[in-house]
Amino acid sequence: MTALLDELRKLLDSGGLITGEEAREREDGWSMGLSQSRIIVRPKTTEQVSQILRICYEKNQPVVTQGGKTGMVQGCVAGPNDLVLSLERMSAIEEVDKVGRTMTVQAGANMQVVQERALEQGLMYPVDLGARGSATIGGNVATNAGGNGVIRYGMTREQILGLEVVMADGRIISSMNSMMKNNTGYDLKQLFIGSEGTLGIVTRAVLRLRTRLSSESCALVAVDDFENLAVLLSLAEGELGGRLSAFEVMWNSYYEKASQRESHQVPLPVGYPFYALIETAGSEQQQDSEAFQCYLERCLEKGLIVDAVLAQSGAERDNLWAIRDNVESMFALWPLSIFDISLGIEQMQDYLDDIAAQFSLQWPDSFQQAIFGHLGDGNLHLVISVGSEDPAVRHQVEDIVYSTLHSRGGSISAEHGIGLEKRDFLHYSRNDEELALMRLLKQSLDPKGVLNPGKLLSAAE
Ligand code: ZN
Repeated sequence: MTALLDELRKLLDSGGLITGEEAREREDGWSMGLSQSRIIVRPKTTEQVSQILRICYEKNQPVVTQGGKTGMVQGCVAGPNDLVLSLERMSAIEEVDKVGRTMTVQAGANMQVVQERALEQGLMYPVDLGARGSATIGGNVATNAGGNGVIRYGMTREQILGLEVVMADGRIISSMNSMMKNNTGYDLKQLFIGSEGTLGIVTRAVLRLRTRLSSESCALVAVDDFENLAVLLSLAEGELGGRLSAFEVMWNSYYEKASQRESHQVPLPVGYPFYALIETAGSEQQQDSEAFQCYLERCLEKGLIVDAVLAQSGAERDNLWAIRDNVESMFALWPLSIFDISLGIEQMQDYLDDIAAQFSLQWPDSFQQAIFGHLGDGNLHLVISVGSEDPAVRHQVEDIVYSTLHSRGGSISAEHGIGLEKRDFLHYSRNDEELALMRLLKQSLDPKGVLNPGKLLSAAE
């Protein structure tokens, strides 16, 4: 360890290396004791990342890369012998190309800053999520982050044109393509998007930007039957002429907690079975509003929705979204587990009934849940509480959620990734051949297993 620190000290300025108690406190601060590293390096350039990795590779030193540390699956927690590589000092926005509609950034660039910079140029970066204020582009790339704009623009993978990556042994792979079309062999950047820091370290990226849309319509509607939600969604996709930009659903179990906010009136009464937050975006406010209102009226006439409130201003719109984003209110159910699953809409209700029956049977007095999610993407978030913090109980809960999903062909992670938390359940979503190929890739790109060991795949295999 001393030799490693000596070499790092030669390479980095005083702010570039944090050790001992200070490192421990920093790690403790965000992870509540889960992350325990005593060495944090904070490079400023790709070249420094490369040199750090060269040193670590030579010394078999495990490296855990950190971005904004807002992930949900313990993807960047570090053990006591791991070195943390933080990209917080590599946060520059290097270039915005207004004509080509691209932005070039360092991996530590903050997501919200990127969004705002794009808007200043009449453009937009369409990935958005609640942790925007802390999340970084590098972290978004490493986890292929999803969020609220996926229904229209896809996940982070769809926004990446080029990447620069440092490999385990320190080699720099610069693949900073900025063209929409480039069919020249293997699309190398895809190897690293969603690889959670296990195959290489993303240091820079070329982002694809879109035209900024000027008109917005947003409504919260109440629905009394799950099947009507699916009809509402398919009507919205058909009748709104490609304007649909969000279709978020909250079960009453979520809405009744999330809508109770100090000094805010509840926009729709609690007690309906389902609430959908529907939003469109376009470029002609009058036409777009009319089309949206027409759609809502038809849905009311058909009995697909039983109550609705249309946002009349930006503030009212923000207020509706604040309920959807009020995930913190779920902590009333503590101790709890939060899940992020994908499955076909036609199977959702049956699946939810199935797991609820299992939980009620096993924990009849303590089982509570709240359900919400990006229904338009087939993605649900489940908040499950059975009243125990015991890891063995937590594992039982996870097993019910994931094994019941397996038989329906669902995914144990829609947008959060695998990290440490879901690693032992990966086989529920990936077959043996897929897992073997993943291990082969890991072995080829990181033969010594120094990059984020034990995350996504177990280290020993
Ligand atoms: Zn989500």
